[in-house]
Amino acid sequence: MVQTPPSPTADIDSPLTSVPQQEPQSAAVSLIPFEKSLGGALSKNSVSVLQINLGRRCNLSCSHCHVEAGPNRREELSEAVCQKLLTVINRFDQIKTVDLTGGAPEMNYGFRSLVEAARAKGKEVIVRSNLTIFLSRAMKICLSIWLSTRCTLLHPYPVI
Ligand code: SF4
Repeated sequence: MVQTPPSPTADIDSPLTSVPQQEPQSAAVSLIPFEKSLGGALSKNSVSVLQINLGRRCNLSCSHCHVEAGPNRREELSEAVCQKLLTVINRFDQIKTVDLTGGAPEMNYGFRSLVEAARAKGKEVIVRSNLTIFLSRAMKICLSIWLSTRCTLLHPYPVI
């Protein structure tokens, strides 16, 4: 007995091969242009604050520290990156504020040169200090930098 080969369309109704027909969309989707939602064009402001994390060196090792800074950390700004930051500070007048953080910014490479460059250009300098840095005799130099350059001090830690 000769068997008839299956038709090429024999499995056309198989759930694996049938493609459900989509209903034509009856109602047009109304898209509100982004600009209209905003009530105007989206525009960017110029950068006016340069925040720099100088590194993870710190005289403290607080349990709440989100960068896990501490006396044994060695990650800090490199000389090459510091040079680039000095160029940015000197070149862009639109930067009005240089905001320094860490770690303890005072313990990390580049602190003094960044402060002095920014102040020389008339920019506000914010130092996010833990303040206990002044208990270290080696860091007394920071106090003189602050006093001579008139930095703004911020102590951003929770009151215990
Ligand atoms: S003083 Fe600040 S940077 Fe240093 S360990 Fe504490 S939270 Fe971290």
